Amino acid sequence: APAPPPARHLFSDPAEVEALRGNLLAWYDRCKRDLPWRALVRGDCGKRDPALLPAVWVSEIMLQQTQVATVIDYYNRWMQKWPTLQALAQASLEEVNELWAGLGYYSRGKRLQEAARKVVSELAGRMPSTAEDLQKLLPGVGRYTAGAIASISYGQATGVVDGNVIRVLCRLRCIGADSSSPAVIDRLWDMANVLVDRSRPGDFNQALMELGATVCVPKAPLCGECPVKQHCQAWRRKLFGNPPKVPDVEDCGVGDCPLCPPATEPWVSSLGVTNFPRKAAKKPPRAMRTATCVLERRGCHGAPEYLIVQRPSSGLLAGLWEFPSLPLAQDLQEEREREELADHLQMWMGQPVAAKGLRFIGEVIHIFSHIHQTYVVYSLALDGDVTLDPALSPSRWVTEDEFRASAVSTAMKKVWRA
Ligand code: SF4
Repeated sequence: APAPPPARHLFSDPAEVEALRGNLLAWYDRCKRDLPWRALVRGDCGKRDPALLPAVWVSEIMLQQTQVATVIDYYNRWMQKWPTLQALAQASLEEVNELWAGLGYYSRGKRLQEAARKVVSELAGRMPSTAEDLQKLLPGVGRYTAGAIASISYGQATGVVDGNVIRVLCRLRCIGADSSSPAVIDRLWDMANVLVDRSRPGDFNQALMELGATVCVPKAPLCGECPVKQHCQAWRRKLFGNPPKVPDVEDCGVGDCPLCPPATEPWVSSLGVTNFPRKAAKKPPRAMRTATCVLERRGCHGAPEYLIVQRPSSGLLAGLWEFPSLPLAQDLQEEREREELADHLQMWMGQPVAAKGLRFIGEVIHIFSHIHQTYVVYSLALDGDVTLDPALSPSRWVTEDEFRASAVSTAMKKVWRA
């Protein structure tokens, strides 16, 4: 068996664990933010109507990669529209995408709805209530979301590890090895499971995440106001400066501890507690260019209408609507880009399109998590009517208001504004 990590990286003293839980929960009771999903689950622990959609499930899925302030409005509209598992199971993907439009990472909404269908059709309408079952049985529910639902909605004493918890735990225990590595993540899960309060697991987990979101923030943590500073190894180290040259019995061996910063990147005094956590450098996003064209015609009442087409049902922005678009090779000349786009439009319209007739509008940049996307935007006003080929992907003409209400991505809204 691998040797246990040195004591400074562990919570091995039961009295300290107890004190930390008490201090954190007392702070949470005093200072927690009033968020809509908290109102619904307060005092809940599985006693509520099992037909209702668990608030924490919806909020946790929406909060993945998304700020709280952005999520609140989406969350309220979602819960109003689909308050029960049954209602969500009956929704169409189109409705889900419309409500999700602008929130990003669209597969999240789709999988939430698929999971509700599964609960209703295969699990007799009963949500699984342990982290293990939630993760095993529901699509789109990973280890973190399963732990959050099980502890907050059903009172299971199980820990959670998200980005905020990673930061707090790495600082509490001076973990400076790559915090995205599986070995470190496993240690953090062990730690979260040791720490979680047995009688108030949901509140404890929310408190730890709340601490990371409001006090132990990435760049300028408010250590002076922190309810657990007396348990924080990074804070002590900041106060007392560099560790002694000769490590004490509690300290790590130099250079060979799997949880300490690598010997090549030692503690930097000026960074203080923000020495932790550390992550291996991210790969830069992939650059992509896409030509897109806003086709405009006069509708039957004389108001302008625009053609939108539906993206494939899997992959990036699956099932969303967009102006006819075509991925481009990186180093094409402008003239060639136009020609390729004109050929592509011809396919939609079933009639020749002159490349010269396309009006260049400008370039719009949108950053997805892993793609740096440049949309090269053109427009084309049509005189006569156009018959769309029903054998191609779904497409439709929409007015400006209909475009805004459709399931279109934030990137397409930027194209629209251009
Ligand atoms: Fe984070 Fe500072 Fe609190 Fe430590 S003392 S947990 S670094 S806010």
